[in-house]
Parts: sequence; structure tokens; C-alpha cells
Amino acid sequence: MHQSLWSLSQTVPRYPSLTHHTKADVCIVGAGLTGITLAYLLKDTDLTVVLIDSDHVLSGTTAHTTAKITAQHDLIYHDLIQTFGEYYAKCYANAQREALQFISQTITTHHIDCQFEKKFSAIYTQNDESIPVFEKEYEAYQKLGLNGRLVETLDLPFPIKKALILEDQAQFNPLKYAVALLSEIKNCPRIQIYENTPAIDIKKRDSDLTVCTKPGYTIEAKKVIQTSHFPFYDDLNFLFAKMEAQTSYLIACEGVKKMPKGMYLSYEQPTRSIRTYENYLLIGGEDHRTGTEKETTARYEALKNFAHHYFSPSQISH
Ligand SMILES: Cc1cc2nc3c(=O)[nH]c(=O)nc-3n(C[C@H](O)[C@H](O)[C@H](O)COP(=O)(O)OP(=O)(O)OC[C@H]3O[C@@H](n4cnc5c(N)ncnc54)[C@H](O)[C@@H]3O)c2cc1C
Repeated sequence: MHQSLWSLSQTVPRYPSLTHHTKADVCIVGAGLTGITLAYLLKDTDLTVVLIDSDHVLSGTTAHTTAKITAQHDLIYHDLIQTFGEYYAKCYANAQREALQFISQTITTHHIDCQFEKKFSAIYTQNDESIPVFEKEYEAYQKLGLNGRLVETLDLPFPIKKALILEDQAQFNPLKYAVALLSEIKNCPRIQIYENTPAIDIKKRDSDLTVCTKPGYTIEAKKVIQTSHFPFYDDLNFLFAKMEAQTSYLIACEGVKKMPKGMYLSYEQPTRSIRTYENYLLIGGEDHRTGTEKETTARYEALKNFAHHYFSPSQISH
């Protein structure tokens, strides 16, 4: 029940831990989707790469995500235009579009079986007062060339006041995809992967960097890239004061008779994020600042109640 659907659907290869001092052109710290994608991209260069993870490879957020691949992250584009101007808002939107194209292209190139499906993404409101915000966001979509439309109904079992649809987005099984990338780099002798190897510090001398690990071994590198989700090394940037960890919850339900066709996100709180995967309906939300909630079981209960109320599943399986 508490294991993620993704982890049960895909075995992740195991790697040794670092047991010697080593050197590389690039050291990547964190073997989730970001670090593995980066190692995959470096495969076709002549650089040597060491990729390390403090835990098992792919045991972090990537194994527990809803795995929607979409440029629709809440209603952000009107605000981005207001704050940074149209040029930078477009850069952001284009980066999302290119990421989706990259994933789609990589899946085609390597024939990756990861249940990648093109879907529309929809954000909806159940409040009349929010409608003007949706209309402004729709105008922003038009300025930025995002293929959106405003609608008054969705194929969800509760009423909505307005939804903004973004066409041609996608969803996949993130672990099947990431493990396929690992297979692509498996035979590359310039890429070494170690798990159970937490990085604890970076020491700098001139242009040389040394990553210090908890087991006591070091990795000397010309470049170090932190893909640890939350940076372990701060370098006086005070990131710990600017960032906060968030916890979010996700359940999978079976036996839902009428499955919705797209990917959905509520505008109002509590957040509800909805998508399908094979015969499962995934429902996420109930986010909060990490460490502020004692009764995390209650958060799962809230998602389960929502599922039973609107979708009548035969069981909550994961
Ligand atoms: C419930 C939920 C739903 C989400 N839904 C979506 C969604 O629909 N779409 C979307 O795009 N995103 C979604 N996200 C976010 C998305 O899952 C993450 O942004 C993404 O998986 C992050 O990948 P990552 O590789 O950056 O981090 P991770 O997968 O967390 O990988 C980081 C790795 O770094 C390792 N690490 C940490 N510290 C160290 C250290 N000091 N030394 C060595 N290794 C270290 C960790 O062990 C971990 O394996 C969701 C997240 C959650 C929790």
C-alpha cells in the first residue's frame, strides 16, 4: 500500500558505493530524473562522469511523482509576463515545450516502453471569483503561443466554473523512462555510478573542486552539478533561507468506472492533481511545508475520502 506504483512497476538496477578516491571531468550529485538525464546527455561527449546518490538510485522524488509532463504549472504565465516581461515568460514556456519534445524524442529514439501518452492538461476553478484570473491567464497563453482554451465543463464528476486547457501535454511512467536512460549509459566506460554515497561538502582550490563524501572518499572534478533536488552545498548563497521543502501526497485507485481522459489540477486549495495510469486513477495533493504536520496519515485519508466521494473506486491500491 505504501510503496509507490512506479517502484512496484519497475526494478531499478543497483550500483556499488564509492570505495576509493576518484577523478572525473564532471561529478553529478543526485541520481534522480535530473541527474540521470544529465549523465545521459553527457554520454555523447568525451567527458568522464561520476554520478553519485546518497541513497539508492531513483529512490527520491522521481519515484513518487504524479509524472505529468506539462508546461501548465498552476496559473503562472500572466504573473511571469507582469514580473519579467513577455520575452522571459516566453523563454520559460519554450523551455517547458523543449523539455517535452526532448522526452518524446528520446522515447522514440530508444523505443522506450514507459506508457508515454499525449494528453491535455487542465487547471480548473470551482469559484466564480477566480474566473477573471483564468481569463487573464488565457490572454497570456495567446501572447506566448501556448495552445490553450477556456471551457466551462470537464469530464470530472463534480461541477466547475471554468477551466483552462493546455493541449498536447503528456504523462508517463517516470521510473520506466529513467531506467531506460540508465540502460543507455550502462556500457559507457566514461560514466561511473555509485549509490549509498552521500556528498557532504565541496572543497575548492583554484579551479579544482573536490566532492567529499560521507564514506570518506573524494571525487576530484572540474565541474560539480547538484541534482540533489534540495542543494546539499550552499556556498554562502543562503539557499536554505530562501527555499523550503514541501511534502505532497499521491494515491492510486483501482476499479473506477468512468475514467477522466486528461490530466487535471485544482486552482483552489486543497490541491487536487488527477491523472490516469493504465487502469489506475492517481489523485495527489494535500501539500504542506515539510515538518509542519504531525498526522500525515490524515492527509492520505483526505485524498482517499475525495476518491471515494467522487470516483467510487473498488480499492485504493497504492
Ligand atoms: C507527489 C508529487 C507529485 C509531483 N508531480 C509532478 C508532476 O506531475 N510533474 C512534474 O514535472 N513534477 C512533479 N513533481 C516534482 C517531480 O517529481 C520532481 O521535481 C522530480 O522528480 C525531481 O527529480 P530530481 O532528479 O530533481 O530529484 P529526486 O528524484 O529527488 O533525486 C534527487 C536525488 O538526490 C539524492 N541526494 C540528495 N542529497 C544528496 C547528497 N547530499 N548526496 C548524494 N545524493 C543526494 C537523493 O537521494 C535523490 O535520489 C511531483 C513531486 C511530488 C512529490
